[in-house]
Amino acid sequence: MSETTTSKPAPAPKPWIEAIHAYVPGKSAGADGRPLIKLSANENPLGTSEAALAARLQTVPPSLYPDPDSRALREAIAARHGLEAARVVMGTGSDEILNLAAQGYAGPGDEVIYVRYGFAVYDIAARRCGATPVVAPDADYGTDVDALLGLVTEKTRVVFLANPNNPTGSYLPKGEIARLHAALPSDVLLVIDQAYGEYVPAEDEDGAFALAATHENVLVTRTFSKIFGLAGERVGWGTGAPAIIDTLNRIRGPFNVSVTAQASALAALGDTAFIERSYTHNLEERARFVGKLEALGNHGLRPLPSQANFVLVLFEGALSAEAAYNGLAERGYIVRWLPGQGLPQALRFTIGKRVDMDAMADALAEMAEAAG
Ligand SMILES: *Cc1c(COP(=O)(O)O)cnc(C)c1O
Repeated sequence: MSETTTSKPAPAPKPWIEAIHAYVPGKSAGADGRPLIKLSANENPLGTSEAALAARLQTVPPSLYPDPDSRALREAIAARHGLEAARVVMGTGSDEILNLAAQGYAGPGDEVIYVRYGFAVYDIAARRCGATPVVAPDADYGTDVDALLGLVTEKTRVVFLANPNNPTGSYLPKGEIARLHAALPSDVLLVIDQAYGEYVPAEDEDGAFALAATHENVLVTRTFSKIFGLAGERVGWGTGAPAIIDTLNRIRGPFNVSVTAQASALAALGDTAFIERSYTHNLEERARFVGKLEALGNHGLRPLPSQANFVLVLFEGALSAEAAYNGLAERGYIVRWLPGQGLPQALRFTIGKRVDMDAMADALAEMAEAAG
């Protein structure tokens, strides 16, 4: 087995696959392996709805395949959002839907556009199918619709946009989404990723569902990983025109949503009290944390405005993001530092429990003070 022959070629991966930098997930332990309080992956600090946990234990025997069409779950999603169940496709997390969208509509020679500091999965999704990723410049870390539109060519097949965006937390209002869609060619698929949509106040809704319901080139994605507290179950979904849903259904895994995932997501969707508690917690604690950082004054810590369950903080003073990251780890907290995404100057803080947010704000104050 250990003998290698140099004369025979080994299987060669496609060059566009070799060019992929694998997704780097949020860590849950320090460099020394010590478990830390994890605020690096935008998980729900309140955990999971009790109803979802109970439903998860009462599913059919695992010897049986799950419903390949996730029918009950799709109908519940459709009812909740005023959609047609036939226009909903389920995925193993919304990651699967994002990848299917790229694979279904783009290939070698085609271009896929997303904004700089966009979600890391878009780059992988584009490259996976051999398409060329095209990165639009940001506007002070936010999405610049004109910059995005300026990059559209005859080769553009897909535009990915997270709203709110991860890792910046930035949000495009309804008018900007409408303007982006109206200016895109009708044969370019606009994917609006609303992984954090449930955290956005109803009055700030971005109009994406309405666009997906009335146009042939819009796909909106959502997930059960964030406010619903089911990241470990891997459930996401998308809605769009019947032709888009049909395309994605052809290429998704036939049993892509497990029995426990379907059951727990269905129950989580019905537990509106838990959703409201999670929403309110996030709104209050995010404002409290940002307020504390802003009160620090002249230390160069700049929290970006966020509509999501996290805040990206820029370190523009004497205290560097890397030093703050290490200092927080020493104090038992792991947040997200993203030098690989061009953000060595920033840390992304998931909004956690109050006691932890206060402790991190205090630690940042102490470190900033010491750095001068
Ligand atoms: C977390 C996240 C997702 C969700 O991924 P899942 O595969 O559903 O867990 C999708 N898009 C963005 C921007 C995210 O931050």
